[in-house]
Amino acid sequence: MIIKNAEHEITAVKPNQYPVTGFPEVAFVGRSNVGKSSIINTLLNRKNLARVGQTPGKTRQINFFIVNNNFYLVDLPGYGFANVSKEMKASWENIIETYLYSRKQNHLKLVVMLVDIRHSPSKDDIIMHQWIKGFGMKSLIVATKADKISRSQINVRLNDIRKVLQLDKATKIIPFSSEKRTGKDEVLEEISLSMGE
Ligand code: GDP
Repeated sequence: MIIKNAEHEITAVKPNQYPVTGFPEVAFVGRSNVGKSSIINTLLNRKNLARVGQTPGKTRQINFFIVNNNFYLVDLPGYGFANVSKEMKASWENIIETYLYSRKQNHLKLVVMLVDIRHSPSKDDIIMHQWIKGFGMKSLIVATKADKISRSQINVRLNDIRKVLQLDKATKIIPFSSEKRTGKDEVLEEISLSMGE
């Protein structure tokens, strides 16, 4: 897939603020600091479209980016911040769950779930992936910050992530580095396939 253009279209909290064009959507989820803003910028060839290094209070929103005038890349709030109140945790879980629930049938083609390649998926990651599966949606796992480990460790880490998330054979996992821009074509290819292109 070639990215011809990409723009931020809308920031939403509630479903009545989501776009109404009916274009397909590909959503990105992951723990805060996993590199979600960085991968979105890398995929869309932009430096600052998604904001890198956001603080917890500013991230309980969903950002819709319109790409090539025909689909949305959807940036869901990062989860798993340390030191936040139960209310705040519940609030963004609700935002993510409401989005998945209201988009699962028509719009949402793929959920790209990000995990840091260096660490085993957290409890939050496991729950998140169970939600995605529970909603019957297709997921792609992207293991971020692949430049931070040696090449020989990559498969070892991917196997661990696959095991902890209990991925089935059909679910792909792709190592990615925003720093080195590796994995980009593979991820764009999966996005393209999910939309039947
Ligand atoms: P977000 O909170 O998930 O949106 O994560 P960000 O994209 O803001 O990235 C969090 C931190 O990780 C920043 O300091 C980034 O520079 C760094 N980071 C993100 N992706 C990579 C990567 O592929 N390699 C390396 N080495 N650092 C990365």
